[in-house]
Amino acid sequence: MRKIGLFGGTFDPIHNGHLIISEYLREELVLDEIWFIPARVHALKNNEMISPPEVRKAMLELAISENRYFKCSDVELVKEGISYTIETLDSLHQMYSSLNPKFYFFIGMDNVDELPLWKKPAEILTKCQVIAFGRPGFKPSEKVKPFLPHLQFLHIPLLEISSTFIRLRVGQGKSIRYLVPDSVMHYIKENQLYTRPGK
Ligand code: ATP
Repeated sequence: MRKIGLFGGTFDPIHNGHLIISEYLREELVLDEIWFIPARVHALKNNEMISPPEVRKAMLELAISENRYFKCSDVELVKEGISYTIETLDSLHQMYSSLNPKFYFFIGMDNVDELPLWKKPAEILTKCQVIAFGRPGFKPSEKVKPFLPHLQFLHIPLLEISSTFIRLRVGQGKSIRYLVPDSVMHYIKENQLYTRPGK
């Protein structure tokens, strides 16, 4: 059996918070690999404001290139329309059945709170082990309480980094060094990303 961590997100851009969490969880859960899954169209975000998929994927690949346990999966990028986790899990189970995989799906506390809004959340819980972890400023609210016994909570080093914060700093002409890998910082600069207000 292969133990595979799945980390879905918009990754606009991927930041050191994502990478630190992934390496930490890989070790804690003794995972064989972690697959980063950039969403094509996010169900709950304003997609007009999100960078094109190929740009987000390019930054992700730069960021993970030196970690042999980290891979990028195109499963959501190649599919038209909104990226639903339940469909992603079905596709991955189908595509990789020969690996006999056990999937561990990572979600930060901000996303845990949105679980009731996801498509078929109860079914998601039968197709993977959901691994939840803290995020500064977020606590589970009443509406998500019924789901909590089905999630596995792990303590991680808390980091107040978000892609929004990175985009904001770039827009203000401030340094993002050490918040993202150097390769991602250079890519953002060369491609003049996040320089327009609100992007
Ligand atoms: P944005 O600020 O654009 O919303 P983000 O930083 O939340 O982006 P995403 O790509 O949307 O990044 O996040 C993917 C996953 O990573 C989500 O489950 C989110 O909860 C989690 N995550 C991202 N940053 C952190 C962090 N600093 N601590 C804990 N979880 C995080």
